Amino acid sequence: TLSDRLSGVFTNLRGKGRLSDADIDATAREIRIALLEADVALPVVRQFIARIKERAGGAEVSKALNPAQQVIKIVNEELVAILGGETRRLQYAKQPPTVIMLAGLQGAGKTTLAGKLARWLRDQGHTPLLVACDLQRPNAVNQLQVVGERAGVQTYAPEPGNGVGDPVRVARDSIDFARRAQHDMVVVDTAGRLGIDAEMMQQAADIRAAVDPQEVLFVVDAMVGQDAVNTAQAFQDGVGFTGVVLTKLDGDARGGAALSVREVTGQPIMFASNGEKLEDFDVFHPDRMASRILGMGDMLTLIEQAERHFDQDEAERMAAKLTAGNQFTLEDFLDQLQAIRRMGPIGNLLGMMPGMGQMKDALAQVDDKDLDRTAAIIRGMTPAERENPKIINGSRRLRIATGSGVKVSDVNQLVDRFFEARKMMGQLGGMGLPGMRKRSAT
Ligand code: GDP
Ligand code: MG
Repeated sequence: TLSDRLSGVFTNLRGKGRLSDADIDATAREIRIALLEADVALPVVRQFIARIKERAGGAEVSKALNPAQQVIKIVNEELVAILGGETRRLQYAKQPPTVIMLAGLQGAGKTTLAGKLARWLRDQGHTPLLVACDLQRPNAVNQLQVVGERAGVQTYAPEPGNGVGDPVRVARDSIDFARRAQHDMVVVDTAGRLGIDAEMMQQAADIRAAVDPQEVLFVVDAMVGQDAVNTAQAFQDGVGFTGVVLTKLDGDARGGAALSVREVTGQPIMFASNGEKLEDFDVFHPDRMASRILGMGDMLTLIEQAERHFDQDEAERMAAKLTAGNQFTLEDFLDQLQAIRRMGPIGNLLGMMPGMGQMKDALAQVDDKDLDRTAAIIRGMTPAERENPKIINGSRRLRIATGSGVKVSDVNQLVDRFFEARKMMGQLGGMGLPGMRKRSAT
């Protein structure tokens, strides 16, 4: 799996200022493979990876996550955003009936979906009518009627035995019928071909023109993978659609088709079908699909937990130290500088406290270079010096400066800044701010 591969790529790289290009490249390579294995179309993969690299390049290293986890987190966020950025509800007509037309290749699952959709709508108090406009296959009308009976909704179909019917006319007539019979919604099932062909596209386009639907849902089999892109494009050009339904998600498909179709057509995925039964149907969940595409639901859970624990531990630890200024060490100081640069928990904590805005500003002024130098100086100290900076006398300062390649004045400045910060901490603790100790009590 992807998580196995990734854990092989990274050792623990915590504490670096930023993700290195090599870290990002290595992770991007693995994610690229995962996306291709999930059957995401190549051009979509390329675009997506480029976007990820750009975002990851600017990201600060998180203390809670290793670089691989951090990039995956970004990838997951992007995937969820793309898959669900514009998730929206069905659009309803101002004057009923609301018309939903289904389009897609034969076998995609349109007729099955028609039943599921009708049942789902019925459960919400609507009175849907199913309309059989697939007059291509001899058994198609009957199939829809069976589905409709199971769903407990009425089906509108042409009289049998009249030779080849005209699906456009059936569609048009069905709207009149729905209006008279007080159906507030109409679901139009259409014919599909095994491949894309001009005649079928024209028929679907004619039906669309005749019934002027609020929604045209492009139904696509998630198992088809790469082909989904071409098919979606053809339907987009030939008929046009307002939303996508993925079917057969109960199969072993990784769901890359979802990402491809979404990216290529820009239309939202609205529903998902995952079985042959009426109830195997749901609105589309971008987060589930993202973890399916990445194949790493467990890893994502771990990432979430790691972050939550880290934030909480850190906040508790710091809150305790803040109330007792003299326990505040140079290690903490460095942590804080980094935290504030990340605008992490401590940065926010300080910012929210009365009178601390100033200090936050002072600390926030350190730029990345400054931060690196500060980190280098502190790392050049012995553990005893970091714990108890009072012992850092002149000869120690010289040793530290030489060891970390800075001037003695830099070390002086750092130590001064530290004591100043600690004094503020002490005052803050003395103020007995409400809530400061609360967290550690839980
Ligand atoms: P249509 O030609 O687009 O109308 O497709 P159908 O609705 O007739 O479905 C084609 C086949 O796929 C049928 O055997 C359905 O039972 C099956 N099918 C449809 N949706 C799903 C699904 O979500 N999961 C599974 N496993 N089978 C499905
Ligand atoms: Mg059908």
